[in-house]
Amino acid sequence: MVHDNEDVGGARPPREELLAVRYYDWIAHHGRRTPNKVAVIDLASERRFTYAQLDARVSRLASFLRHTLNVSRGDRVAVLALNTTDTLEVQFACGRLGAIFVPLNTRLTVPELQFITSDCAPKVMIHDTDLAETALAVAKLCGVATSLLLDPGGTYEAGIAAAKPLEKIEEVTLDDVSTIMYTSGTTGHPKGATITHGMTFWNCVNLGGPACIGPSSVLLTVLPLFHTGGLNCYTNPVLHAGGTVMIMRAFDPGTALGLINDPAQGINVFFGVPAIYQFMAQHPAFATTDLSRLIVGGVGGAPMPVPLLKVWEARGVALQQGYGMTETSPAVLVLDREDAARKAGSAGKPVLHTEVRIVRPDGSDADIGELGELWVKGPNITPGYWNRPEANKTSFTDGWLHTGDATRVDEEGFYYIVDRWKDMYISGGENVYPAEVENVLHQLNAIAEAAVIGIPDSQWGEVGLAIVAIKPGQKLTEADVFAHCAANLARFKCPRQIRFVDALPRNATGKIHKPTLRKDFSVTSEVD
Ligand code: AMP
Repeated sequence: MVHDNEDVGGARPPREELLAVRYYDWIAHHGRRTPNKVAVIDLASERRFTYAQLDARVSRLASFLRHTLNVSRGDRVAVLALNTTDTLEVQFACGRLGAIFVPLNTRLTVPELQFITSDCAPKVMIHDTDLAETALAVAKLCGVATSLLLDPGGTYEAGIAAAKPLEKIEEVTLDDVSTIMYTSGTTGHPKGATITHGMTFWNCVNLGGPACIGPSSVLLTVLPLFHTGGLNCYTNPVLHAGGTVMIMRAFDPGTALGLINDPAQGINVFFGVPAIYQFMAQHPAFATTDLSRLIVGGVGGAPMPVPLLKVWEARGVALQQGYGMTETSPAVLVLDREDAARKAGSAGKPVLHTEVRIVRPDGSDADIGELGELWVKGPNITPGYWNRPEANKTSFTDGWLHTGDATRVDEEGFYYIVDRWKDMYISGGENVYPAEVENVLHQLNAIAEAAVIGIPDSQWGEVGLAIVAIKPGQKLTEADVFAHCAANLARFKCPRQIRFVDALPRNATGKIHKPTLRKDFSVTSEVD
């Protein structure tokens, strides 16, 4: 006999509600199953909502978006806000409407956000007070007529309070797009990775097991919810499992350690990029923080130095490294807890329902121990980029996503992310594509040629170094370059150092030769 949800216990919920519960919106299910369990705690506003309360808020928000703001299936809803539970409500409300949730990186400047907002053309811009000026400037430039203000007393709260519950949940399939997440790209402009309802669902399934996620999980979310690391490692999986998510508005190492130390909070799950673990390890409270309740400490998003893993291991925490991308929603590889110490430095093995290959430049499979590009296939992989048919052609081969990451596997099947084939570096967990920074540098008339490379940095992993040649007879100071970058690029993308040279090295086809630059500026790379 085939069992599915409809065969299990009690009266059958309406069909459309079942679909939503299955594919994306777990809040309704937990709202019935564990109505009084705390689902989310918003530390900054000291608000906490049970699953029943969250379900009711999501329903009324969806109804408000539909009836008052005319958001319908397929419409984009953008959010520009520091971490808040409201962002999660928007995600789930969009799911119930079949609308598309677009979380925006709060670190971007107005010109960067203008590009993204023009690309996805949202119907509504939802923002908080801190980002009101930026959000309204972008909305005006892009002709987004409606904006909704979060924060107590904002138009968002008033809208929810006045709305009736949503009368009909839109049917969605696993293949419908639920979210667009923008990532920068080697072409110099951000691209919107489309995330389907199914991708998020499969990430919850694939990541849930190795990350030990369950109803008793209590997660402290410190990474931004506009990033796949904050949203899907492990915020969505914990809500999917019916656990509790505690949300920090912006990461602070001392506060995070204090919360983990406090038995009343019961935090047992944590996820961070390497820089987060570095900041915590350097904090004076680290040595005395009680870390014994942490069942899971996940790390990913950038190369994790083994010495830093050892620092945490010495405090009794076997950090589990994982590997993924926005485009893979994100889990691809995860190291199980029991292997964490023995295989320190490995990003683990493929998660459930995800296939990987290591591929040579000619498309054949690499041998064990041989370096090649990681390719990924599975139901958690993006179907493509929003409005980017060209990028969609070049990023996939027969459904395999080319990650651009240089990888090898050992004889026991553990994967190691060694380097990158794509021109990118990672600063504090944020990807920086030099092409985007170089485009901005070239806006300066005095610049003849410019290249950006990542150089090692003990705090941020890598930071940018700009190498610039000036046109004959022109003048340009370091301060001019820094000021121009600061006005046009998010801080994490702004080069930290600038070197002026007469000319940049070029290869036979005239392209700037970055391996030479990396060598000249003492950056060694296995893939050069
Ligand atoms: P994002 O789309 O911002 O999540 O960035 C994805 C990229 O981060 C990958 O393509 C890798 O280059 C890098 N990355 C993710 N996880 C790891 C890891 N464990 N080790 C090294 N690099 C990683």
